[in-house]
Amino acid sequence: MPAFFKPRRRRGPSGPNKNEQKVMRRSSGDREARTGGSLKERFPGVESIRLQLTFLNPQQEIYEEVTRTIGPDDAVNFSAPCPGRCGGERGSFDLTKEILTAIEGARPQVQGRLVCQETMNISTVTPCDFRLEWKSTLHYGVKS
Ligand SMILES: [Zn+2]
Repeated sequence: MPAFFKPRRRRGPSGPNKNEQKVMRRSSGDREARTGGSLKERFPGVESIRLQLTFLNPQQEIYEEVTRTIGPDDAVNFSAPCPGRCGGERGSFDLTKEILTAIEGARPQVQGRLVCQETMNISTVTPCDFRLEWKSTLHYGVKS
């Protein structure tokens, strides 16, 4: 049996260095951590989470009201794209941190208010200024 097919080892730069890899991993990993998995996989103790989102335009008028209920088999996603002039791609309202804190503390209800600070487009510095008033009701399963 031929024993001379030794793989050649190549040294030298191949792709991004460690630091760059870390940064890249952090940005894509965060996103996955926020959206991956169903509710019962991620939070077995939580039966459902109801989100009531009220979007307000910079004039403080109601732009849109949305109610979302996340059930046991629904994907966990606590962020909503901003409907404002920033285009929603860059600006989004992320409630993940607040909701996770609420789950940790087994709180039945949590609410807050966010203002989109994204600029409307690359060439302007005026912020989008859409607001989100939100309220979340959390239902917990019976602890065994
Ligand atoms: Zn916005």
